[in-house]
Amino acid sequence: MGAGYDLELVNLTKKYGDTLAVDSINYQFKAGSYVCLLGPSGCGKSSTLRMIAGHESVTDGSVVLDGFDVSYLPPAKRGTAMMFQSYALFPHLNVRDNVAFSLRMKGVDKQARHAKANEMLELVDMTQYADRFPAQLSGGQQQRVALARALVTQPKVLLLDEPLSALDPFLRIKMRTELKRLQRELGITFIHVTHGQDEALALGDELVVMNNSVIEQSGAARDVWAAPKTEFVAKFMGGHNVITFDGGKVALRADAVELSDTGLPATVTAVEYQGGHVALTTATTAGEEVLALVPEATFFQSPKNPGDAVKLAWDEGRLHRLQS
Ligand code: ADP
Repeated sequence: MGAGYDLELVNLTKKYGDTLAVDSINYQFKAGSYVCLLGPSGCGKSSTLRMIAGHESVTDGSVVLDGFDVSYLPPAKRGTAMMFQSYALFPHLNVRDNVAFSLRMKGVDKQARHAKANEMLELVDMTQYADRFPAQLSGGQQQRVALARALVTQPKVLLLDEPLSALDPFLRIKMRTELKRLQRELGITFIHVTHGQDEALALGDELVVMNNSVIEQSGAARDVWAAPKTEFVAKFMGGHNVITFDGGKVALRADAVELSDTGLPATVTAVEYQGGHVALTTATTAGEEVLALVPEATFFQSPKNPGDAVKLAWDEGRLHRLQS
């Protein structure tokens, strides 16, 4: 399938009546990358994705794919494909015919479309279920069929709207590995909307964090996590404290906070065992909350309980100034 295409959003805007859902965003998606679009509910993620797909009209600005403005093309003519949250399979068609459906609409003959559908089912490891109906499949299997059905059109960009949210936690992690493998194998761009930070970090080469209808920060997943620009991103990505230091706001990674003999006095307010580490929530005398992620072996050498007095220390080099 084709690689090397670039998707660009230019001043892309969506209004629903008086509601500004997407406010003139600009972004260039690197060809062949796995991009996670994340942010809190209502920040404009789905509207952005649906405008790229052509399932929602553009109020202003444009969607440019491979140098062509596709903003006014119907979904099937854009070179994108969308996998929906509800898999929306046709209940009366078997798996193979579900996958082949868009080819049938295009007038591809039966033999050719079945061959192509079989190839896609092989790709998502569903060959043995080709003759079953959707009702005879588990949620995870239906999702694989939905993926095969989206990929059969050979899109340059695959759009996924919270594709894992309906799955149980075990299956979610399994499918996330599958999605990553598929993206690598196909070499096309995947744009995956999620509100989960873990999911975005696990999958995204690149993260685009939205808030209040705009892109708040974007970049390589590790850069966004390690160097949040704003208080919102630091808090939303998790694992960071936002504290006052030298009259300004700074982010401090929770795993950079240590308990020591000297340091900032604080009182433990909550202790949560999380397996590899223990999350210790504390309150400083200034009334700020500071979270320390302490390796579990270290913690259990000298366990703490709510109400205990502790001293917090960190390397000043770990403080990261935020834009006000
Ligand atoms: P997200 O995917 O981040 O949850 P959405 O793009 O779904 O955000 O929504 C962004 C904003 O647009 C929200 O305020 C939402 O209520 C509003 N919105 C979304 N779809 C519609 C619609 N069809 N009609 C009116 N308002 C909508």
